[in-house]
Amino acid sequence: TATLDAPATTGAVRIDGVTKHYGAATAVDDLSLDVQPGEFLSLLGPSGCGKTTTLRMIAGFEFPDAGDILISGRSVLNLPPYRREVNTVFQAYALFPHLTVAENVAYGLQQRRVPKAEQRERVSEALDMVQLRAFADRKPTQLSGGQQQRIALSRALINRPSVLLLDEPLAALDRQLREEMQLELKLLQARLGTTFVFVTHDQAEALSMSDRIAVMRAGRIEQLDAPAAIYAEPASAYVASFIGQQNFVHGTVRADGNAVDTAIGAISGRWGGERVAAGQPAVAAIRPEHIRLEQGEGAGVPGRVLGVSHLGETLQVAVRIGEDATFLSRMPAPTAPSVGVDDVVRCVWSAADARLFAAEGIPTTATHVITLPKDGGR
Ligand code: ATP
Repeated sequence: TATLDAPATTGAVRIDGVTKHYGAATAVDDLSLDVQPGEFLSLLGPSGCGKTTTLRMIAGFEFPDAGDILISGRSVLNLPPYRREVNTVFQAYALFPHLTVAENVAYGLQQRRVPKAEQRERVSEALDMVQLRAFADRKPTQLSGGQQQRIALSRALINRPSVLLLDEPLAALDRQLREEMQLELKLLQARLGTTFVFVTHDQAEALSMSDRIAVMRAGRIEQLDAPAAIYAEPASAYVASFIGQQNFVHGTVRADGNAVDTAIGAISGRWGGERVAAGQPAVAAIRPEHIRLEQGEGAGVPGRVLGVSHLGETLQVAVRIGEDATFLSRMPAPTAPSVGVDDVVRCVWSAADARLFAAEGIPTTATHVITLPKDGGR
């Protein structure tokens, strides 16, 4: 079959020491990344970390100041965008309003003067990919936002690019539709075997769809791994704060190096990333789902219930500790203690679930960071 002749590198993307400056600003900083053929890889990070610039350099809309970019094993730096075996889907899907769905999808083929019969066949195939063949004769305005985005996808897939670049394609959709589309996109990608490089600042989106996630920070990759691995073993406080939620407690590293002394006592845990020397500032991190609340006498950090939220299968409880620190606990609803505001509780966790990090890099904008003040609250 045809696939036997295809080189094993088809669809692979290699970014090799790429740097991109805009004036004095460094958007991408000596970044290297290997995307495997057929992989769904997400570039995840906050606004301004260089995701879009990286994607645009793969597409050929931007040119790196240093480094090389290879697609399917060949350097593409000397190729204009339309000669690269990639296609891009943007957040603003920009369908032509006066053309039908089929005409929108066929547009690129028409430009390239592909014969009419072949155009019809390939449009049908591309619309089948996104299950919208029945909508071929409608105008874009007669479609929902999700359907319009699927048409944009099918337009990008019609040339069967070996790599599809997606820049926040679901950001404009409302939450429920976005979640449906995440699943659909993942299934489509698996079915086609196309390499996807997906840009998002939404960690839940990256976790739910990706084979691997590259967590970016200031033009570099801070961690690259499978979603479960990144979630369980973040390599830094930055990654830990960006993926999932964390309770952060600031302190200084204990003499033996295996715990952080904090205002609420010593917190033992495993180091994520490089160890910090004894006596130096560090942060302990415990995820809300690892904090169990107990009542009555016993071990744990005492606090007072601030608020209780019923989230369906989980119960989320905010606990005030000391003067101005808050811990978040999430417990399976069926086994959670029934607590109310102002109840006195103990926060209990297993040392195996706590992680210790260098204190640097926790974004102040991270809304889900619950942190004791750096001075220990004293
Ligand atoms: P966002 O999610 O907001 O798009 P991003 O992670 O995709 O962010 P980039 O758009 O790649 O980030 O931008 C990286 C940095 O480069 C930012 O500081 C940005 O201001 C800067 N930058 C990007 N494009 C240009 C440009 N054309 N001219 C000048 N600076 C730019």
